[in-house]
Amino acid sequence: NSSFLRQSISPDSDAAKLLASPGTLNQSAPPVLAIPGFRNVPDQDFTIPGEQEKLAQALKSVRSQFGKVFNPVIAGKAQTGLEQISVYNPADPNIYLGAWGKATIVQADLAVNAARNAWNTWRHTSSQERSQYLHKVADLLETQRATFTAWIIYEVGKPWRDADADVSEAIDFCRYYGEQMVKLETQGQNRDLPGETNHYRYRSRGVAVVIAPWNFPLAIMAGMTVAALAAGNTVVIKPAEQSSIVAAQFFALLEKVGLPAGVVNFLPGKGEEIGAHLVAHPQVNLIAFTGSLNVGSQILASASIVRPGQRHLKRVIAELGGKNGIVIDSDADLDQAVLGVVQSSFGYSGQKCSACSRVIVHESIYETFIERLVQATRSVQVGQPTDPGSFLGPVIDQEAFQRIRKTIHEAKQSARLVLETDVSHLGGGYFVGPTIFADVDPQSSLAQNEIFGPVLAVIKAKTFEQAIEIANSTPFALTGGLYSRSPKHIDFAEAHFECGNLYINRKITAALVDRQPFGGYRLSGVGSKAGGPDYLLQFLEPVTITENIQRQGFAPLPEELDD
Ligand code: NAD
Repeated sequence: NSSFLRQSISPDSDAAKLLASPGTLNQSAPPVLAIPGFRNVPDQDFTIPGEQEKLAQALKSVRSQFGKVFNPVIAGKAQTGLEQISVYNPADPNIYLGAWGKATIVQADLAVNAARNAWNTWRHTSSQERSQYLHKVADLLETQRATFTAWIIYEVGKPWRDADADVSEAIDFCRYYGEQMVKLETQGQNRDLPGETNHYRYRSRGVAVVIAPWNFPLAIMAGMTVAALAAGNTVVIKPAEQSSIVAAQFFALLEKVGLPAGVVNFLPGKGEEIGAHLVAHPQVNLIAFTGSLNVGSQILASASIVRPGQRHLKRVIAELGGKNGIVIDSDADLDQAVLGVVQSSFGYSGQKCSACSRVIVHESIYETFIERLVQATRSVQVGQPTDPGSFLGPVIDQEAFQRIRKTIHEAKQSARLVLETDVSHLGGGYFVGPTIFADVDPQSSLAQNEIFGPVLAVIKAKTFEQAIEIANSTPFALTGGLYSRSPKHIDFAEAHFECGNLYINRKITAALVDRQPFGGYRLSGVGSKAGGPDYLLQFLEPVTITENIQRQGFAPLPEELDD
C-alpha cells in the first residue's frame, strides 16, 4: 500500500513528490526511541565470507574445549566434588560436550544466603553503576559472539542463524534493561506542593531466582538475570538441565566484569529438586520463570505459600507455552503466506515458544495453500546444525524425540498426513523432519496441545470470522499471525485475535527487544512482556515518600555539624 505505483493513482498524488529521492523528503518521522541510546544489535550476515569464516573457526575452537566440567559457583567460589551430569550433542549423541556439577539442596540454601548478603550492598549501588556492569557484559558478548553461537549450536542444536539471533537478543537485553533502569530511577515521579514533597521511587525486591528453559539457552536466561540485576536484586541462576554449559559461559562473563561476589550465583541442577526448593525458600523474594505450563503452575502454587521465617509475599513472573496459530485469509498473498508459515513453523524445529503449530486456512484457498505449503516445506534443508545450510537441526533430546514421534504416529489415525520427511540418512541424532497434517479437527489434541516440535496442523475454516474463532479456541494466548489484504479483516483481527503478540503479513517468530516486546496471557503466562516498557517494574517495589517541609527546621546530628 505504500508503493509509489499505488500512490500514483490517488487523486491528490504529486508527481514531483513521488519521484523525489526518499532521503530529501523526510516524510516519516524518525522512530521514537523508548530508551535513549538503545538500538538493537544486528545479527551477523553469514553471506559475508568473513563472518562465515569466523563462525566456522569458532566451531573448531569450541570443539577443542569439549570435556570440561562446569560447576556451581556460590559467592564467587566454585563448588567441587559433585555428581557430574554429562552433556551430549543432540545432533550426534556420541559427541560428549562436557559435564556440569549437580548442585545439592545444601548448596541451594548457601546460594540464597550469599545472594541475600550481597543484596545489602548491591541494592544501594546506583542504577548507573549497575547499568555499566551490564554494558560491559554486552560488550564481551559482542566480542565473543562467535564462541557463544558455536556453543549454542553444539549444546541445543540450533542452526547458525537461530543461534546467532539468540546472542543478539542477549546483548539487547543487557543494554535495554540497564538503560531502562537508569531512566526509571532518574525520572522518578515528583508531585511537590508548597510545604510538601511527594516522591514516587523504586526499590529492589531482594533475592531473585531465575529458572530458565533450554530453547533460548542464552537470551532468555540472560534476559531474566540482567533484568533482576539492573533492578538491584541479587540472583540465583538455575539454568535448564539441557543448556547448562551455555549458561555457565554466560555466568563466566558476569564474573569477568567484576560483579561483587554473591550478587549472582550459578546453580545448575535438577528442576524438580533444587528448582522446587529455591521456589519454596522463605528468603527468596522473586521467581522469574520461563518454561512449560505444567511447571509454571506448580511454581505459582508453591510460591503462594508463606513459610516459617518468610516476611513477604513472593512475586512470580511466569512466561509459559503456547499453541500459536496463523490465519490465512481468502485474499492472502500466498507467496508471502507460505514462506511465513514455513519459517514460523519449522525454524529451530518448531521449538520456539512463538512457533506456529496451527494454520487456519479459508476454504476458498485451502487446497492450493496446502499444495504450495507442502512443496515449499520439501525444499527446507534438515541437517547438522553445524552446517551453515541447515534450516532445521535436531530436537533437543531423546525424550522430546520420542514424544514428538509418538504424537505424529497417533495423529495419523485422525488427520490427513500431507508431509512426512525422511531424515533417516542423518544418523543417530534426534532429528524429526517437518511434518504436516491437514483436515485437523480444531478440538483434537493435535490442535490443542503444545507439541514443541516440527509438526504443523492445517485446519479449514468456512469464513474469516470462523478462522479467528478457531485461532482463539485454545486456552493459550501467546503469538498469532494473519495473512490478509483486507483492511477490514486486519482491523477485526486486531480487535478479536487473542494473543500477546499478533503479527500481520509476516512471520510470527523472531521478536526483537524493544520493537516487539514479547509474552502472552491466558495459560501462556503471568507477567509483562520481556523486552518491553513494563518488564522491569515487576522486579521492583514502588514506594511513595511524602515529607511535610513546613516549619520543621533542621536538627542536624552532632557528626553532621562536624562536617
Ligand atoms: P520446563 O518447564 O520443563 O523447564 C523449565 C525450567 O524449569 C528448567 O530449568 C527446569 O529445570 C525447571 N523445573 C522443572 N521442574 C521444576 C520444578 N518442579 N520447580 C522448579 N523448577 C523446575 O520447560 P522447558 O522444556 O525447558 O522449555 C520449554 C517450554 O517453555 C515450552 O512450553 C515453551 O513454550 C516455554 N517457553 C515459553 C516462553 C515464553 O516467553 N512464553 C519462552 C521460551 C519457552
